[in-house]
Amino acid sequence: MMDKHKNFDADALFKRKDQMSGYRFCPLCGSNLNREKFDGRPRMVCTDANCDFVFYQNPIPAAGAIIVKDDSVLLVKRAHPPKVNWWCIPAGFMEWSEHPTDTAIREVEEETGLKIKLTSFFEVYSGQDDPRNNAVLMLYLADIVGGKMRASDDALEVRYFKFDDLPEKIAFISHRQALADYVARYRK
Ligand SMILES: [Zn+2]
Repeated sequence: MMDKHKNFDADALFKRKDQMSGYRFCPLCGSNLNREKFDGRPRMVCTDANCDFVFYQNPIPAAGAIIVKDDSVLLVKRAHPPKVNWWCIPAGFMEWSEHPTDTAIREVEEETGLKIKLTSFFEVYSGQDDPRNNAVLMLYLADIVGGKMRASDDALEVRYFKFDDLPEKIAFISHRQALADYVARYRK
C-alpha cells in the first residue's frame, strides 16, 4: 500500500472535514458541486441539470470489541495517523457488505491476531474527534476463542491494561468514554 500518511496534517484535515469533506467535483459526471440547502440541510449538489448526484455527508460506521481478562482490558497502540503511538480499543471501519459483528471480529483479528466470539452488544458512540471523518462506533463485548496475540496491521503493540492503570494517551473521546462506561457497569 502506498504511504498516504506521510503528510498527515490533523488541523488541515479537520478543516477539510468541516467543509463537506473538501469535495468539489461530481464523482458521476465531473461537473462542479455547489453547496446548497437540500432537504433542509447543506449538501453538495451537482450543478449539471441532467445529473442527480447529491453528496450527503454522513458519519462512517465502525465496530470493535472490548476484551477483558483478569480485570484487564486489551488495547492496541496505533501504528497510523491520527494519534500514532496512542492506545485504543481494537476497532475499525466497516467494509461495504459487512455486518458490524463481522467488522468487530475481523478488526480484532487483524490488529491483535486473536480470534474472538462476541458475547453481547455493549454500546454505540458518536465519534467526532477524528480529523478524517465522523464515525459511529459500535462496541461489543467479546471472549477470546483462539489465535495468538501479536500486533499487526494498524497496531504497533497489543497488551492488557489494568482498569486502575489505563494509559494516559487513549486516542479518541469515544474510546475513553467506553472504558469509563465499562468500569461504571461492570466494576463496582
Ligand atoms: Zn454530476
